Amino acid sequence: MGASNLQLILDEIVEEMRHVTERGDVADYIPPLACISPQKFGIAVATIDGACHIAGDACEPFSIQSVSKVFSLTAALDAVGEDLWDRIGVEPSGSPFNSIVQLESEAGIPRNPFINAGAIVVADVLLGGRHPDAAMGALLKFVQSLADDDTIYVDHAVAAAEKETGWRNAALANYMRDFGNIMHDPADTLSLYFQQCSLALSCEQLAKAGRFLITDGVDPQTGYRVVTPGRARRINALMLTCGHYDGSGEFAFRVGLPGKSGVGGGILAIAPGIASIAVWSPGLNTRGNSKLGTYALDRLTSRVDWSIFEPPI
Ligand code: GLN
Repeated sequence: MGASNLQLILDEIVEEMRHVTERGDVADYIPPLACISPQKFGIAVATIDGACHIAGDACEPFSIQSVSKVFSLTAALDAVGEDLWDRIGVEPSGSPFNSIVQLESEAGIPRNPFINAGAIVVADVLLGGRHPDAAMGALLKFVQSLADDDTIYVDHAVAAAEKETGWRNAALANYMRDFGNIMHDPADTLSLYFQQCSLALSCEQLAKAGRFLITDGVDPQTGYRVVTPGRARRINALMLTCGHYDGSGEFAFRVGLPGKSGVGGGILAIAPGIASIAVWSPGLNTRGNSKLGTYALDRLTSRVDWSIFEPPI
């Protein structure tokens, strides 16, 4: 795929998306997200050779929300290794992202690290006895280093709004505390969780931050090993099977790549060996995944023939 071809395709996708009228609904249960225009659309593709192609609103920071769970999982694996899987499963839940139902019959062990319950346990691991702000400082530095961009920030207004309205997340944390799967004061664990969800990145920054997952865990820019090859593959496997909650099957079916969505309308998708792709469109489908983001990734992967199910040439 020539660079100019790829840029042309991204520009065409932006143009096509501009004319779509059914754009889904922005998440309004987190008040600041309700104010974002559903007309926004950005896409960025960071390729293995170090280039980054951008189109539309790709330079505008947005709330990455649950896309942050890819980075918190990576950091937690670094902190505690495979012991993490004693506290979190690796199965798709088939349930909405914020569901509590399985926790009762499964003794407070969340199905996977990408549903809210699982990500709250990951946050509890990352907290490691520290103040939530200190733990967030470390996670922010990690994401900044992955994207090679220290302007990435936490939107504290979004974090405060989540804290004020996040009763369901509080229920999940308290319920898991009762099962002994949250080790800290649930308020502290939630403070870290809400801050990580409030990370603000542009598509360009997000695509760059995902590059280590293209190359079996090595940052292709610096040669720095972020995670072992085995872990990078497992993170991609979890993105494919669990990254879009009860819409994960449909995303794999339509896009053919591992992907992680967030209710801010962002999606990070990985074409192993080829590219890290970030797309942003705030309107969501009924499962809480970006409607146009999914559509645009479907268009892109069909046009450039990227799929993990594509046999090697
Ligand atoms: N912060 C959001 C929540 O906990 C994240 C959900 C999401 O992006 N799917 O509800």
